[in-house]
Amino acid sequence: MDSVPATAASSAESVTVSADASAKVIDGKLVVKQVREEIAVEVSRMKDAVGIVPGLAVILVGSRKDSQTYVRNKKKACEAVGIKSYEVNLPEDSSEEEVIKHIASFNSDPSVHGILVQLPLPRHMNDENILNAVSIEKDVDGFHPLNIGRLAMQGRDPFFVPCTPKGCMELLHRYGVEIKGKRAVVIGRSNIVGMPAALLLQKANATVSIVHSQTKNPEEITRQADIVIAAVGVANLVRGNWIKPGAAIIDVGINPVDDPESPRGYRLVGDVCYEEASKVAGAITPVPGGVGPMTIAMLLSNTLESAKRIHKFK
Ligand code: NAP
Repeated sequence: MDSVPATAASSAESVTVSADASAKVIDGKLVVKQVREEIAVEVSRMKDAVGIVPGLAVILVGSRKDSQTYVRNKKKACEAVGIKSYEVNLPEDSSEEEVIKHIASFNSDPSVHGILVQLPLPRHMNDENILNAVSIEKDVDGFHPLNIGRLAMQGRDPFFVPCTPKGCMELLHRYGVEIKGKRAVVIGRSNIVGMPAALLLQKANATVSIVHSQTKNPEEITRQADIVIAAVGVANLVRGNWIKPGAAIIDVGINPVDDPESPRGYRLVGDVCYEEASKVAGAITPVPGGVGPMTIAMLLSNTLESAKRIHKFK
């Protein structure tokens, strides 16, 4: 298969297959390729029509290797679709005021349409003070409380939807998984994944339950779901017998487990036991290669959306 099913009909079948069939793989890498191509087309259409190039500013504080890698990947992804990236690297011992000063300068810079502060911040900084300083209109991470509040309210729309949950929804849409009227269970309620994912499913008219660390009988609740989004951080928590036959499973978890056969000594697995779940589910994301690559693609999408909104470009 070299393209994602174009219509809901073609893939809706995949989530109602019988229990003994193996699940359709929801291929995040393939969707990312398509999304990036679409964004590149739109970026160049906007540049040609109104001479505006969307811009993303990333602020990195400190020198954590993983954060540097994420920032480098974001920059590369921007370049690949024609989005201009701006980067500020501040030393670990910078003050909160310095970070906020840079945010303020990007807030008022018309060539910047999205601002992202790479997390985690050094311990001496208050995340809330810093994230709240990002203009809600440029909050492409969607973490500003006003954005989350608007996401939760009836009749309101956020400026931005947080990237990872947005990626989960995009995968469901692109694979034609019907959401309206379905039962959905989100496992995990973090501010960055579980909670906004549950709000998004509810906005799409699913009936949503949230399972968390204090939930009794999580397997029974999960077994009722036509759609499961797992964002926990516990390797293989969700077993095959937690899953309703034919359900669509979106596994956000990224967990290293020891693997002496791997050159790195470990491999990454999800929150869902793929081997068992793929025998029961109708469709499932692999780990890696499912939700993971979607997050940066949605960041690009949010940056483009922002530039279009600011410049009233349709
Ligand atoms: P988090 O902030 O640690 O939240 C985990 C959530 O899981 C909490 O709400 C917690 O419940 C719940 N939980 C913990 N143990 C549980 C259990 N045994 N049963 C049911 N619920 C349980 O984690 P996160 O940031 O949301 O990340 C979750 C996973 O997604 C991680 O593996 C992370 O690496 C991955 N992730 C991937 C991406 C990506 O693919 N791009 C992005 C972000 C995160 P309480 O609220 O009761 O504590």
